[in-house]
Amino acid sequence: MIEGIGTISLALPYRFGSVSSYLVKTDTGYVLIDTGCRKNRTDLEKELESAGCKPDSLKLIVLTHGDFDHTGNAAYLREKTGAKIAMHYDDSGMVERGNMFWNRKKSYFVIRMMTPVLFRFGKSERFKPDLYLKDGDDLSEYGLNARVLHIPGHSQGSIGVLTAENDLFCGDLLESTDKPDLNSIMDDVTAANASVKGLNKLGVRTVYPGHGKPFPMVEFIKNDQ
Ligand SMILES: [Zn+2]
Repeated sequence: MIEGIGTISLALPYRFGSVSSYLVKTDTGYVLIDTGCRKNRTDLEKELESAGCKPDSLKLIVLTHGDFDHTGNAAYLREKTGAKIAMHYDDSGMVERGNMFWNRKKSYFVIRMMTPVLFRFGKSERFKPDLYLKDGDDLSEYGLNARVLHIPGHSQGSIGVLTAENDLFCGDLLESTDKPDLNSIMDDVTAANASVKGLNKLGVRTVYPGHGKPFPMVEFIKNDQ
């Protein structure tokens, strides 16, 4: 059962805004959704501590996709807490190889050049996930009454987590840095639109995006028309 959702907003280097992790409190412990980038480590640990999440109470780390601003502390936290790391197979090569462009169609030249500088993803940050998640997977054995949605677009292995209360952790499919919108960086726009179309049918209540503040899904649908 979900007892609470905490938003952990972490500042990205330079003027890249912020990235959000979400700490979900369940009746059996905690589940962390996304982990920020390497530079956020101290802040993230402080936030986990002040939320009362002790190392042995973190049960699972879900990564919505393989980008370094979401996965930079996953290996470190697994080592420290023993929590398992779960993500979609189609993005796993990104974190195993330390290459955000593994399995991506587009290679944004500027991002490709800047990434190693901004999000330093050294050998110690590379890892192999413990679990591969696919569409429809049930997370209740980790205390999280939720299921996995495969929502490709930003990357091929992007996933969302839809709770039993119909709240959605959407990773970087949607954002709300300015207003609720499709994330501005898309690897496959056709796939992203299909993912959004699928979401529109689910009666999603609150969206918890990778970047920006949580927002009601109806606000996105209104803007999208
Ligand atoms: Zn991101």
